[in-house]
Amino acid sequence: MELSLANSSVMEAYRTFIVKYDDPRLIQKSKNVEDHEFGLNLEITFQSMIQIMHQERGCGLAGVQIGDMRRILVASDRGNVFCMANPQIVKRSGETKVMEGCLSFPGLQIAVPRSRFITVEYKNEQGITKTVEFKDFAAVVVQHEMDHLDGVTLRTHQKRIAEARSANCPRKKRKN
Ligand SMILES: [Zn+2]
Repeated sequence: MELSLANSSVMEAYRTFIVKYDDPRLIQKSKNVEDHEFGLNLEITFQSMIQIMHQERGCGLAGVQIGDMRRILVASDRGNVFCMANPQIVKRSGETKVMEGCLSFPGLQIAVPRSRFITVEYKNEQGITKTVEFKDFAAVVVQHEMDHLDGVTLRTHQKRIAEARSANCPRKKRKN
């Protein structure tokens, strides 16, 4: 998820590394990180993801966005960066909505209904299970990135919202 668009030409060149728009990988489900994959390599992957997230001025990044089809993500919460493998929401409550952007869909901004409080269980780069609570904006960021792991994007939500709208207020049939 991104906060604002960076617009220098160097940034534009870097942006080409981010998987975008109609790339079929964005709607694929990512696979669990397996036991043998934890350790130094995963730590290096997380470090590059953090670097890319910061360079792109994002506040979260999912593996698929750099072409890594494993269930991994990085998310920042007021200066703390969380690196998660195989995250799962074990508790959620409340409702919230903020305008969300996405590094994979530059320019697109949508308010998606989300839970305001979530408790996430995940594994760190060493494979150690962690449980962390997030609220408000950070909770939205984590839910946005977790969506990516299931092949769900802002565009998916855009379609769902449009469908719900047209189901709620069907157009009057014209009489000819
Ligand atoms: Zn995104």
